[in-house]
Amino acid sequence: MNTPPTRLLIHGASGRMGQSLLRLAAGQPESLQVVAAVTRRSPAQRVVEGVPHFAASELSGAPVFDVAIDFSLPEGFDPILALCVERGVPLVSGTTGISAVQQQALELAASRIPLVWASNFSLGVAVLADLVERAAAALQGWDVDVVESHHIHKKDAPSGTALTLGQAAGSAGADVHYASLRAGDIVGEHTVQFTGMGERIELTHRATHRDIFARGALHAARRLAGRAPGSYRVRDLLD
Ligand code: NAD
Repeated sequence: MNTPPTRLLIHGASGRMGQSLLRLAAGQPESLQVVAAVTRRSPAQRVVEGVPHFAASELSGAPVFDVAIDFSLPEGFDPILALCVERGVPLVSGTTGISAVQQQALELAASRIPLVWASNFSLGVAVLADLVERAAAALQGWDVDVVESHHIHKKDAPSGTALTLGQAAGSAGADVHYASLRAGDIVGEHTVQFTGMGERIELTHRATHRDIFARGALHAARRLAGRAPGSYRVRDLLD
C-alpha cells in the first residue's frame, strides 16, 4: 500500500532557504506535500503555485501538518516551537542565532515532541562529523586543526560548522585549534587536519550550493515523522 505524502509546514517560506525548500519539495510530490507556507508579513497571494500561504500572525490557524520546517529568524522561532508542542508534531529547525533561553525552550520541548535543530543541515557535514570523531579517537596525541573558508561577507569566525566539527574531535579527547579564511564568494569549506610525526590526514567538505541545507532538512523531516519525542542530530537521521 502506498504511504501518503508527509504534510509539511514551511516557516520562513519567502527567504532564500524557504524558497529552496519549496522548490525541492515540489519536485517530490509522491513523498512531500507543503500544506502551509508561512512568512513574516501577510502575503499578496493566499495561494502560490498551489501552496496556501499564511502570515506569521495567522500561524495558529494553519491546517493540520505532520512536520514543521523552520528556517526563519530568532524572532520567529518561539511561535513555531510553541505551535509544534501544542499540536504534538515534530519540528526541524535550522534558524541560527537563537538565544540561550530559546535553546532551553528547545530542550524542554524535546520531552514532548521529536525535534532536530542544527546549525548545518548538510548530510555531508553530518557524515564528516562522524568521521572526525572516529579519527580523533584513533589518533590520540596528534595535532587537530579545523581550517574553514567562507565568503568575505561572513562575519562570525570560526563558523558554527567549524565549532561543531571541533566538538566532534574534542569529544574523543583532542585539543582542537581553529583557523578562518574570508575570501571572495566561497560558499563554505571545512578541513579537519590530523597531523602526526611524518604523516597527515585531511578530511575536507566543500559546499557549492545552498540546496544541500534544504535537501538535508527535507530528509530530516521525512525521518523525524513518527519518532518518539527527543532531540535528534542530523547524523541520527542519516539512513
Ligand atoms: P532570509 O532572510 O532570506 O529569510 C528569512 C525568512 O524568515 C523570510 O521568509 C521571513 O519572512 C521569515 N521571517 C522573518 N521573521 C519572521 C517571523 N517573526 N515569523 C515568521 N517568519 C519570519 O534568510 P535565509 O538565508 O533563508 O536563512 C534563514 C535562517 O536559516 C537564518 O537563521 C540562517 O542563518 C539559517 N540557515 C541555516 C542553515 C542550516 O543548515 N542550519 C543554512 C542556511 C541558513
